[in-house]
Amino acid sequence: MSQTVLVLGGTAEARELAAALDRRADTRVISTLAGRIARPRLPAGEVRIGGFGGPEGLASYLAQESVGAVIDATHPFAQRMSASAHAACARATVPLLRLERPPFRRRPGDDWRRVATLEQAAAAIPAAGRRVFLTTGRQGLGAFADIGGAFFLVRCVDRPEAPLPADHVLLLDRGPFKLGGELALIDRHRIDLVITKDSGGEHTEAKLEAARRRGLPVIVVARPPRADSPAVATVAEALAWLAGDAHAG
Ligand code: NAP
Repeated sequence: MSQTVLVLGGTAEARELAAALDRRADTRVISTLAGRIARPRLPAGEVRIGGFGGPEGLASYLAQESVGAVIDATHPFAQRMSASAHAACARATVPLLRLERPPFRRRPGDDWRRVATLEQAAAAIPAAGRRVFLTTGRQGLGAFADIGGAFFLVRCVDRPEAPLPADHVLLLDRGPFKLGGELALIDRHRIDLVITKDSGGEHTEAKLEAARRRGLPVIVVARPPRADSPAVATVAEALAWLAGDAHAG
């Protein structure tokens, strides 16, 4: 029997999952993207771009497209979309699975300082460093705008809208990033502090290895809390869930 699977995307895992499902004759896969990135990497299969208008809009969409299961494979920091999926799937009684990559792993030699928010990361800068490699992404950069006395190398995929700190260099680039490139950036800009979200994933972890090699502290912003729902860490586990548990309830 054919089933429609909705993949809430914007991550490498979401694209990998969509590619696997798109190869199946018995599955219709629809991936959704927020539409924030100018030139997104598009997943295989059908793609829907733009928000749903909150949980009500998503619940209506699930009914309209006869969606049989939802995989929330959004970024670990996409808190609103995940909350919306949780509410909409409960309302529409559609099974929901969270596909979330594991957090970054701390290794011997790491000097990590964990904080809960971007604002706390900004407040921690003066005591931790003066030349900051800021890799937290385009959203929320406003938290750093008023931090004086520090230089920022700001890296994100698209040009940010928020005001940036006075002394900065903006680097528009997207992963995967390699160790050699990260070391070269750290050396060229005489970086003494790295700031990252705890996004996890291989595509962006080279900066952590680079910081370790140069003996630099890293401020790590913790993942936001999320609603309790079944969760897996790999695409293979998500496929197994679709084949079994998604139909159990
Ligand atoms: P968010 O704050 O959780 O979402 C804000 C709103 O954008 C949602 O309420 C929803 O609008 C819409 N939206 C978000 N993700 C969507 C998706 N995959 N498909 C359809 N609509 C979506 O999310 P965000 O942090 O802005 O992230 C936006 C997208 O970028 C996500 O797809 C995420 O996977 C990706 N991303 C985020 C980060 C990050 O650091 N936050 C990093 C890399 C990639 P409605 O309420 O109208 O449905």
